[in-house]
Amino acid sequence: MISQVAAGIYSYLPLARRSLKKIEDIIRDEMNKAGGQELVLPVLQPLELWQESGRDRAFGKSLFTLTDRRERLLALGPTHEEVLTELVSRNVRSYRDLPLLLYQIQTKFRDEPRPRGGLIRVREFTMKDLYSFDVDEAGLDESYRKMLRAYRNICDRCGLRYLLVEADSGAIGGKDSHEFMIIAQSGDNDIIYCSQCDYAANAEKAESTKSAIDGGEPLPLEEVPTPGMTTIEEVSDFLGVPRSHTLKAVFYVADGEFILVVIRGDLEVNEVKLQNALHCYELRLATEEEITDAGIVPGSASPVGVSGIRIVADDSVPPAANLVGGANKPDTHLRNVNYSRDFTAEIVADIALARAGDTCPRCGTKLESTHGIEVGHVFKLGTTYSEKMGASFTDAGGESRPFVMGCYGIGPGRILAAAIELKHDDKGIIWPMPIAPYHVYLCPLYRDDTEVADVAEKLYAELEGYGIEVLFDDRKESPGVKFNDADLLGIPLRVTVSPRTLEKGNAEIKRRSQKESELVPLDRVAARLKEITEGTTPS
Ligand SMILES: [Zn+2]
Repeated sequence: MISQVAAGIYSYLPLARRSLKKIEDIIRDEMNKAGGQELVLPVLQPLELWQESGRDRAFGKSLFTLTDRRERLLALGPTHEEVLTELVSRNVRSYRDLPLLLYQIQTKFRDEPRPRGGLIRVREFTMKDLYSFDVDEAGLDESYRKMLRAYRNICDRCGLRYLLVEADSGAIGGKDSHEFMIIAQSGDNDIIYCSQCDYAANAEKAESTKSAIDGGEPLPLEEVPTPGMTTIEEVSDFLGVPRSHTLKAVFYVADGEFILVVIRGDLEVNEVKLQNALHCYELRLATEEEITDAGIVPGSASPVGVSGIRIVADDSVPPAANLVGGANKPDTHLRNVNYSRDFTAEIVADIALARAGDTCPRCGTKLESTHGIEVGHVFKLGTTYSEKMGASFTDAGGESRPFVMGCYGIGPGRILAAAIELKHDDKGIIWPMPIAPYHVYLCPLYRDDTEVADVAEKLYAELEGYGIEVLFDDRKESPGVKFNDADLLGIPLRVTVSPRTLEKGNAEIKRRSQKESELVPLDRVAARLKEITEGTTPS
């Protein structure tokens, strides 16, 4: 199907190309039905456009850049908001031309730090990206609904079950954002969902209701010796307090600035939420050396008495009373640490990771978790780009207003990979009919038998005439080899012609997804295959 050229860079071989083309045709059809118009934007883009929107920094090292012979800086587009916003800005002046839905199916480049998972995380890939331009928020809501419907149709038509989850908008920016996830154990996204209501979110974004901790009235601060105790587990066990009654300090470096983050000891920091709270481009854990250089005692750290370091607190911290925290000196902790009396934070926000077993923020049921492959991602951008890039139109009252935008991406390569992840067994792929490279695997056995060969050749021509796509295995291989390859390739229908089936003038039809086969008279084979392929092929 595919062949790796370098990390995250693939050649697509004939079978994969056939499937990808079908997926792209389904996507194109749904985009056109939703009112989209297709265009093609350049991959090679002036870096200034990216500097104008500030996204050269947001993408950071993921943006491929190069210098041309005139020493001008260029970028290989990872997405096309800038180029299209500029195009629309120059050509669309009036509210009468809106809404406008423009899309392309085209190559993107992203310098992923860890390319992996075959086609899941690649550095060069094809994406369908549509951008909506509306006069106001209500218009954007309508465009967004149209695209959600189109994406649902695409997943349904490709034969894939999906979950629509709330998502973080990351480097794209904007407000509402959803991902279409194909549930698969091998998926690289953690999803938190509720089995009772329809709440589902990427773990990067997921919320949960944090348990309330009743610590009583604030008591006086008290130093306690904790010899050799440096982790929350050790300290809480040693002092006999639950982890939820402890204060955990974690150190990060955000765009070069050393940051102290505090969260209740029973919770973990969600770095995506933390990055959003800090509005920073780069975030990483501080090194041991950076922590010591900042004058912090690792293992006994807390914000109490610390100055000159920006503090971020999870919103679970202020309401909790009398927590156990570090004393900022070796082998010592403090009892009865209270927010506002003993320390305050510059930012208080929900920066906790929601986990399975936590409480659903909507209905109170216990949340569950699973893994998924993201195939599509939609964003309400609002006026983020149009304001930064000065893209405006004249409204009905003659006023100049920024375009209200949305963007909507779906990856044919990811759909292909997800389909295989979802539908396979230990023998190979089990293609859904609509995106299978071929409908039928024609498998004559004992090719030296001239009758078998003649019948197979005739059948091949007949099926092609019916518009049935046939992969003709005319190799002189044993039945075992042919059947194994048929299962491996996963073509939905296998048609076998052998001296045995011909004894009564039949061919054998077997579905890849089923164990049983049926014998069908030769003159009925084409009609029967047509029935089966059309029965499972929408449109
Ligand atoms: Zn719920």
